[in-house]
Amino acid sequence: MGCRVVLLGLPGAGKGTQAEQLAAALHVPHVASGDLFREHLDKRTALGCQAQAYIERGDLVPDEVTTGMVAERLARPDCAGGFVLDGFPRTLAQAVALEQLLASAGIALDVALLIRVSEQVALARLAGRWTCRRCGAIYHTLFSPPRQADACDACGGELYQRPDETPEAHHHRLQVYQEQTRPLVDYYRQAGLLTEVDGEQSIDDVQA
Ligand code: ADP
Ligand code: ADP
Ligand code: ZN
Repeated sequence: MGCRVVLLGLPGAGKGTQAEQLAAALHVPHVASGDLFREHLDKRTALGCQAQAYIERGDLVPDEVTTGMVAERLARPDCAGGFVLDGFPRTLAQAVALEQLLASAGIALDVALLIRVSEQVALARLAGRWTCRRCGAIYHTLFSPPRQADACDACGGELYQRPDETPEAHHHRLQVYQEQTRPLVDYYRQAGLLTEVDGEQSIDDVQA
């Protein structure tokens, strides 16, 4: 597999979980648009303030804002040898912008990996997701619990549930995926870049 990877899948499909391991195996950075937004929110940057209301509602942040933020990240030297993109692109406009951005640097994506799960599985995963405030490691109360309740196995950091983890926001995010992100599956299939993985297996089996 090449080293420029895009991950697709419903919220809760396991993109972040898989991206972390895949990026480590490929020796490239894991670039997650949601994590970049959360950094901006924490630091209360202008971009963070612009994005906050969208994120809390479970809506997509406008394309210009999102694409600019991700482009800036991909331009950093550590992405020169590749990257695992998680959560971006989420609209056709973002996919086109990404393609142009890479083309202008004389490079292209190697693969778009679709992690396939049903909406039911996605909702069950979202409902139990806990995230480390310090290192971003992802846990699940039932499927991937930390060894010690409330503390991250990797760094000892505090685990928290994201403020956009409400049942209402979850349902809305699935709907937004179906309307705005799902068309990317056909887009990448037509480009000959799509590979599908059954995401309803164990974390290790999906990774394999
Ligand atoms: P999840 O892991 O549940 O799929 P993310 O952490 O990727 O969620 O994203 C959290 C929120 O950040 C999204 O609901 C959305 O508001 C915003 N966001 C993340 N990536 C994008 C994107 N590519 N385009 C627009 N908004 C985005
Ligand atoms: P996404 O980034 O696609 O929104 P995450 O990687 O954050 O998804 O995973 C969502 C939740 O599901 C997390 O709590 C994670 O621990 C759990 N999870 C991820 N992959 C699996 C799996 N294969 N089996 C069971 N639970 C999983
Ligand atoms: Zn941690």
